[in-house]
Amino acid sequence: MSALSTARTLEAGATLAAEAARFSGYGWMRGTSGNLSLVIDRDPLVLAVTASGLDKSQLTEADVVLVGPDGRGLDADDPRPPSAEAGLHAHIAARTGAGAVFHVHALDAVVAAHRWPSGVEIRDMEMLKGIGHRAHDETVVIPVIANDQDMAVEAARFDEVYVPATADVPEVPVMIVATHGMYAWGEDAAAARRHLEIAEWLLRFTVATR
Ligand SMILES: [Zn+2]
Repeated sequence: MSALSTARTLEAGATLAAEAARFSGYGWMRGTSGNLSLVIDRDPLVLAVTASGLDKSQLTEADVVLVGPDGRGLDADDPRPPSAEAGLHAHIAARTGAGAVFHVHALDAVVAAHRWPSGVEIRDMEMLKGIGHRAHDETVVIPVIANDQDMAVEAARFDEVYVPATADVPEVPVMIVATHGMYAWGEDAAAARRHLEIAEWLLRFTVATR
Protein backbone atom coordinates (compact mmCIF):
# COMPACT_ATOMS: atom_id res chain seq x y z
CA MET A 1 0.00 0.00 0.00
CA SER A 2 1.38 3.42 -0.87
CA ALA A 3 2.01 6.12 1.70
CA LEU A 4 -0.69 8.20 0.04
CA SER A 5 -3.33 5.51 0.24
CA THR A 6 -2.34 4.87 3.85
CA ALA A 7 -2.84 8.54 4.68
CA ARG A 8 -6.19 8.59 2.87
CA THR A 9 -7.24 5.39 4.60
CA LEU A 10 -6.44 6.84 8.02
CA GLU A 11 -8.29 10.04 7.12
CA ALA A 12 -11.31 7.94 6.09
CA GLY A 13 -10.96 5.93 9.30
CA ALA A 14 -11.01 9.10 11.40
CA THR A 15 -14.13 10.33 9.59
CA LEU A 16 -15.92 7.01 9.99
CA ALA A 17 -14.94 6.70 13.67
CA ALA A 18 -16.51 10.11 14.35
CA GLU A 19 -19.68 9.20 12.45
CA ALA A 20 -19.92 5.84 14.24
CA ALA A 21 -19.56 7.53 17.64
CA ARG A 22 -22.40 9.89 16.71
CA PHE A 23 -24.71 7.09 15.53
CA SER A 24 -23.83 4.98 18.58
CA GLY A 25 -24.98 7.90 20.69
CA TYR A 26 -28.33 7.71 18.92
CA GLY A 27 -28.58 3.99 19.77
CA TRP A 28 -28.35 3.01 16.11
CA MET A 29 -25.13 0.92 16.37
CA ARG A 30 -25.66 -1.09 19.52
CA GLY A 31 -23.00 -3.61 20.38
CA THR A 32 -20.97 -4.16 17.24
CA SER A 33 -23.89 -3.66 14.84
CA GLY A 34 -23.87 -1.56 11.69
CA ASN A 35 -21.04 -0.52 9.40
CA LEU A 36 -19.96 2.61 7.55
CA SER A 37 -17.92 3.06 4.38
CA LEU A 38 -16.25 5.75 2.30
CA VAL A 39 -15.13 5.45 -1.31
CA ILE A 40 -11.34 5.84 -1.53
CA ASP A 41 -10.99 5.19 -5.25
CA ARG A 42 -13.57 4.91 -7.98
CA ASP A 43 -11.84 3.04 -10.79
CA PRO A 44 -11.27 0.37 -9.73
CA LEU A 45 -13.62 0.77 -6.80
CA VAL A 46 -11.95 0.79 -3.36
CA LEU A 47 -13.83 1.42 -0.13
CA ALA A 48 -12.69 1.92 3.45
CA VAL A 49 -15.19 -0.05 5.59
CA THR A 50 -15.37 -0.25 9.36
CA ALA A 51 -13.73 -3.45 10.59
CA SER A 52 -15.97 -6.25 11.84
CA GLY A 53 -16.69 -7.11 15.45
CA LEU A 54 -15.71 -3.83 17.12
CA ASP A 55 -17.75 -1.66 19.50
CA LYS A 56 -18.90 1.09 17.17
CA SER A 57 -18.82 3.74 19.90
CA GLN A 58 -15.07 3.30 20.34
CA LEU A 59 -13.57 3.09 16.85
CA THR A 60 -10.24 4.73 16.04
CA GLU A 61 -8.84 5.91 12.70
CA ALA A 62 -7.12 2.52 12.31
CA ASP A 63 -10.36 0.52 12.53
CA VAL A 64 -11.11 0.39 8.81
CA VAL A 65 -10.40 -2.26 6.19
CA LEU A 66 -9.94 -1.64 2.46
CA VAL A 67 -12.24 -3.67 0.20
CA GLY A 68 -12.77 -4.01 -3.53
CA PRO A 69 -15.95 -4.12 -5.61
CA ASP A 70 -16.88 -7.58 -4.28
CA GLY A 71 -16.44 -6.54 -0.64
CA ARG A 72 -13.38 -8.70 -0.11
CA GLY A 73 -10.35 -7.33 1.72
CA LEU A 74 -7.62 -5.89 -0.52
CA ASP A 75 -4.68 -5.84 1.87
CA ALA A 76 -3.17 -9.33 2.14
CA ASP A 77 -1.18 -8.17 5.19
CA ASP A 78 -4.32 -7.12 7.05
CA PRO A 79 -5.80 -10.15 8.88
CA ARG A 80 -8.90 -8.31 10.08
CA PRO A 81 -12.12 -9.37 8.36
CA PRO A 82 -14.07 -6.57 6.68
CA SER A 83 -17.68 -6.23 7.67
CA ALA A 84 -19.80 -9.09 6.34
CA GLU A 85 -21.95 -6.46 4.63
CA ALA A 86 -19.05 -4.79 2.78
CA GLY A 87 -20.19 -6.34 -0.51
CA LEU A 88 -23.52 -4.50 -0.35
CA HIS A 89 -21.74 -1.24 0.51
CA ALA A 90 -19.57 -1.63 -2.58
CA HIS A 91 -22.57 -2.46 -4.75
CA ILE A 92 -24.53 0.58 -3.55
CA ALA A 93 -21.50 2.85 -4.10
CA ALA A 94 -21.02 1.47 -7.62
CA ARG A 95 -24.70 1.58 -8.56
CA THR A 96 -25.55 5.03 -7.18
CA GLY A 97 -22.20 6.81 -7.52
CA ALA A 98 -22.26 7.60 -3.79
CA GLY A 99 -19.04 8.51 -2.00
CA ALA A 100 -20.31 7.32 1.40
CA VAL A 101 -22.62 4.46 2.42
CA PHE A 102 -23.86 4.22 6.01
CA HIS A 103 -25.65 1.21 7.51
CA VAL A 104 -27.19 1.19 11.00
CA HIS A 105 -29.62 -0.95 12.96
CA ALA A 106 -32.06 1.84 13.82
CA LEU A 107 -35.13 0.27 15.46
CA ASP A 108 -37.79 2.41 13.81
CA ALA A 109 -36.59 1.41 10.35
CA VAL A 110 -37.03 -2.26 11.25
CA VAL A 111 -40.46 -1.64 12.76
CA ALA A 112 -41.52 0.28 9.64
CA ALA A 113 -40.40 -2.57 7.36
CA HIS A 114 -42.28 -5.02 9.58
CA ARG A 115 -45.49 -3.04 9.06
CA TRP A 116 -44.98 -2.14 5.39
CA PRO A 117 -42.79 -4.89 3.86
CA SER A 118 -43.37 -3.66 0.31
CA GLY A 119 -42.12 -0.14 1.03
CA VAL A 120 -42.87 2.75 3.39
CA GLU A 121 -44.90 5.56 1.82
CA ILE A 122 -44.30 9.05 3.17
CA ARG A 123 -45.82 12.32 1.94
CA ASP A 124 -46.53 15.89 2.99
CA MET A 125 -43.70 16.16 5.49
CA GLU A 126 -41.34 19.13 5.66
CA MET A 127 -38.41 16.81 6.41
CA LEU A 128 -38.75 15.16 2.98
CA LYS A 129 -36.84 18.17 1.66
CA GLY A 130 -33.80 16.88 3.58
CA ILE A 131 -33.62 13.80 1.34
CA GLY A 132 -34.13 15.90 -1.78
CA HIS A 133 -37.88 15.54 -2.22
CA ARG A 134 -40.89 17.84 -2.00
CA ALA A 135 -42.67 18.76 1.21
CA HIS A 136 -46.04 18.64 -0.56
CA ASP A 137 -47.80 16.71 -3.31
CA GLU A 138 -45.26 13.92 -3.76
CA THR A 139 -45.40 10.41 -2.33
CA VAL A 140 -41.93 9.12 -1.51
CA VAL A 141 -41.49 5.39 -1.05
CA ILE A 142 -38.61 4.17 1.09
CA PRO A 143 -37.94 0.73 -0.37
CA VAL A 144 -37.67 -2.45 1.68
CA ILE A 145 -35.75 -5.60 0.77
CA ALA A 146 -35.73 -8.95 2.59
CA ASN A 147 -32.70 -9.89 4.68
CA ASP A 148 -30.14 -12.44 3.51
CA GLN A 149 -26.60 -13.37 4.55
CA ASP A 150 -25.45 -13.51 0.91
CA MET A 151 -24.54 -9.98 -0.22
CA ALA A 152 -24.90 -10.97 -3.90
CA VAL A 153 -28.56 -11.76 -3.16
CA GLU A 154 -28.93 -8.42 -1.35
CA ALA A 155 -27.26 -6.55 -4.22
CA ALA A 156 -29.75 -8.06 -6.70
CA ARG A 157 -32.64 -7.12 -4.41
CA PHE A 158 -31.25 -3.57 -4.17
CA ASP A 159 -31.29 -3.31 -7.97
CA GLU A 160 -34.94 -4.38 -8.01
CA VAL A 161 -36.06 -1.54 -5.74
CA TYR A 162 -33.59 1.26 -6.49
CA VAL A 163 -35.01 4.07 -8.61
CA PRO A 164 -32.29 6.31 -10.05
CA ALA A 165 -32.86 10.03 -10.29
CA THR A 166 -34.66 11.42 -13.32
CA ALA A 167 -34.63 14.98 -14.62
CA ASP A 168 -37.68 15.73 -12.46
CA VAL A 169 -37.37 13.46 -9.42
CA PRO A 170 -34.21 12.76 -7.41
CA GLU A 171 -33.37 9.30 -6.12
CA VAL A 172 -34.46 8.14 -2.67
CA PRO A 173 -31.05 7.75 -1.00
CA VAL A 174 -32.31 5.31 1.63
CA MET A 175 -33.27 1.62 1.83
CA ILE A 176 -34.47 -0.64 4.65
CA VAL A 177 -33.43 -4.28 5.05
CA ALA A 178 -36.37 -5.99 6.78
CA THR A 179 -35.71 -7.57 10.19
CA HIS A 180 -32.27 -5.97 10.08
CA GLY A 181 -31.62 -2.23 9.62
CA MET A 182 -31.29 0.58 7.09
CA TYR A 183 -28.85 2.02 4.57
CA ALA A 184 -28.40 5.62 3.45
CA TRP A 185 -25.87 7.06 1.05
CA GLY A 186 -24.69 10.35 -0.39
CA GLU A 187 -21.92 12.09 -2.26
CA ASP A 188 -19.83 12.35 0.91
CA ALA A 189 -20.02 11.53 4.63
CA ALA A 190 -21.98 14.69 5.43
CA ALA A 191 -24.62 13.91 2.79
CA ALA A 192 -24.94 10.26 3.84
CA ARG A 193 -25.30 11.32 7.48
CA ARG A 194 -27.95 13.90 6.60
CA HIS A 195 -29.94 11.35 4.59
CA LEU A 196 -29.67 8.75 7.36
CA GLU A 197 -30.73 11.14 10.13
CA ILE A 198 -33.64 12.61 8.20
CA ALA A 199 -34.94 9.29 6.91
CA GLU A 200 -34.81 7.83 10.41
CA TRP A 201 -36.82 10.82 11.70
CA LEU A 202 -39.42 10.32 8.97
CA LEU A 203 -39.64 6.59 9.75
CA ARG A 204 -39.94 7.29 13.47
CA PHE A 205 -42.80 9.71 12.84
CA THR A 206 -44.52 7.26 10.49
CA VAL A 207 -44.28 4.35 12.91
CA ALA A 208 -45.57 6.50 15.75
CA THR A 209 -48.55 7.96 13.93
CA ARG A 210 -49.86 5.48 11.36
ZN1 LIG B 1 -26.36 -4.88 9.62
